[in-house]
Amino acid sequence: MNVSPQAWIVVADDASISGLLEAARPLATTVVALVVGRRSVADAVAASGVDRVVWFGEPSDGTPVEAYAPAVGRAIAAAAPRVVIGPATDAGRVLLGGVAAATQAVVLVGVTSLSLDGDQVVVERAVNGGIALRTDRVVAGTAVVALTSGSAVPSGAPVAVEETDPGALLGVRVTARRVSERVGVDLGSAKTVVGIGRGLKARDDLALLEDLAQAAGGELACSRPLAEGVDWLAKERYIGISGQTITPDLYLAIGISGQIQHMVGVREAKTIVAVNSDPKAPVFRECDFGIVGDLYSVVPALAAAFRSARS
Ligand SMILES: Cc1cc2nc3c(=O)[nH]c(=O)nc-3n(C[C@H](O)[C@H](O)[C@H](O)COP(=O)(O)OP(=O)(O)OC[C@H]3O[C@@H](n4cnc5c(N)ncnc54)[C@H](O)[C@@H]3O)c2cc1C
Repeated sequence: MNVSPQAWIVVADDASISGLLEAARPLATTVVALVVGRRSVADAVAASGVDRVVWFGEPSDGTPVEAYAPAVGRAIAAAAPRVVIGPATDAGRVLLGGVAAATQAVVLVGVTSLSLDGDQVVVERAVNGGIALRTDRVVAGTAVVALTSGSAVPSGAPVAVEETDPGALLGVRVTARRVSERVGVDLGSAKTVVGIGRGLKARDDLALLEDLAQAAGGELACSRPLAEGVDWLAKERYIGISGQTITPDLYLAIGISGQIQHMVGVREAKTIVAVNSDPKAPVFRECDFGIVGDLYSVVPALAAAFRSARS
């Protein structure tokens, strides 16, 4: 792999940049961090192992990170680095959009690996909901890449923070903040998870699954259509490529066909038990134990079995 002279990291008011730094370091002899946000963030980034820090100054009250998108675009277009890496967060994507607009590039998202091959930046990405990998080669201009930002980087000897005037910002202001209502569910740490899918015929029938989850001492989860189609369960409860990834000891997949977009979220479960009335359902290829049957009779029987086993 060759090394290009400069890679730039865009920091969106959060110094947790280990993922960005790890990706940038092998690609370039110099890694420059362009920091939007508070001085404390710029100071933490300056001690994270980058070679230069350029900071746009303390944002005024009510100025969101996103307002700096044109400023970030101008700074990076002037430097014309070969690679720009930013966080795949909501704010990060807006800033990278500013870079893409200023450098006439596209923002590459879903990136799983990044390398240089001669003059070309080679970007591997997950596409089609994560079921395929695609390789793009950026043959000229700037490669603008959104990546998982990672964690905070242990501090070392700091470099100087260079303050620069951002120039004109976008005319957006934060006028109010509201904390969104939290759904009291922590699927990530649940040992047993009961997942329900479109095999369920009516919302009221969720009571059957709630009873099974309670009997098994687990949490209730679902496939995406139940949370984003009919909205019978909260979005925080759906599992899969675009939902939650879980690692329980036991996952019960009930009335779920077992499409790949769902199953990638449960692959790390220790044991998967599937209940489905269709013996050819794909879920039976991915489970440890399968029960072919009508969930309306199997679920109450399972709940009774859990209760008797626990008593
Ligand atoms: C880009 C993209 C991202 C996606 N992300 C996700 C994601 O993160 N998570 C996710 O879940 N999906 C996701 N999907 C959707 C996914 O492809 C499937 O459409 C979805 O998972 C199907 O949900 P399901 O299994 O509940 O429904 P279905 O596929 O309709 O399956 C219902 C199953 O219930 C069975 N059944 C019916 N009646 C009974 C009964 N009485 N007793 C027992 N079994 C019965 C049927 O045999 C069938 O197998 C995504 C799709 C795309 C394109």
